[in-house]
Amino acid sequence: MKRIGILTSGGDTPGMNAAIRATFKACDAMGMETFGIYHGYVGLIAGRIEKLNHAQVENIMHKGGTILRTSRSEEFKTEDGRKKAYRMLCAYDIEGVVVIGGDGSFKGAELLNDMGVAIIGIPGTIDNDMGYTDFTIGFDTAVNTITNEIYNIRDTMRAHDRVGVVEVMGRNCGDIALWAGIAGAADLILTSECCMEWDEAAAKLMDFKLRGKLTSIVVIAEGAGRAADFAEFVHNKTGIDIKAIVPGYVQRGGNPTASDRVLASRFGMRAAELLKNDIGGRAVGIKDNKIIDVSFAEAIATLDCFDKKLYDFSNDVLARF
Ligand code: ADP
Repeated sequence: MKRIGILTSGGDTPGMNAAIRATFKACDAMGMETFGIYHGYVGLIAGRIEKLNHAQVENIMHKGGTILRTSRSEEFKTEDGRKKAYRMLCAYDIEGVVVIGGDGSFKGAELLNDMGVAIIGIPGTIDNDMGYTDFTIGFDTAVNTITNEIYNIRDTMRAHDRVGVVEVMGRNCGDIALWAGIAGAADLILTSECCMEWDEAAAKLMDFKLRGKLTSIVVIAEGAGRAADFAEFVHNKTGIDIKAIVPGYVQRGGNPTASDRVLASRFGMRAAELLKNDIGGRAVGIKDNKIIDVSFAEAIATLDCFDKKLYDFSNDVLARF
């Protein structure tokens, strides 16, 4: 393979730039040209494609977002749209593409791969909701960002003897809530996988208060409900002074952690190696600290597995008072 493309798709995550840089550098070292495809599948269909050079990937390792920009494309979900994308790749003689994104992007990648162009997926989503890989790019950074937020919030909650409930991203996957909750020493974590009844949660907070713990921090994954609704529920039930905090998009931004930068670089290395060997249709990942690659079908079908034991340990043991 001589010419490959690279694009970022779906939600952006810190560490995408590190993956772009590593893929470009690895391809360059192996004698392949790399073309940047801007704005994900939208730009692929529209031909927003240019050859990358070293200057373009210089000084991007530490930056959040993606220099290639990203998007969601309805057109790419149609066969006509994908045919246009395929023809565009043929026009540029691009034989392989690295797609950095989440499971939606991988579904599209698999279909494009089946049309005859080698596609490799790199998992980029802060939610860590892809079961075939232990970690996705951006998760560690998001966890660190929220952990810091929790500590800031705790300072002000403590000053007023209040309870704070922090709503974090994760519609179907509670990993961010679990990890940031543990790192932020949360007193209660609620996720979609193991959401306790709000009655029980309110009773627990009341029990903390009666035994002299005046400030508690609750972390709620968005899949388990809205922080504002939970705060209202608890207040109505117990009279506890409780504030809802929704950090929102700050969870997506910021400089990637060293761990995310290294993970992204390792993913980029494997993606380039696969394409060099004319292998497509694979999603790279990490299992037990080893870089792996699996078929898109397996990557998409493998359900995320939530660490229930760790969740119970956090709520039942670490949060004891
Ligand atoms: P993520 O990759 O972060 O999960 P999305 O689910 O929004 O983000 O998917 C990103 C893009 O991938 C979509 O806008 C669409 O162009 C493409 N895509 C998603 N699902 C499919 C699908 N089933 N078939 C074809 N393309 C898809």
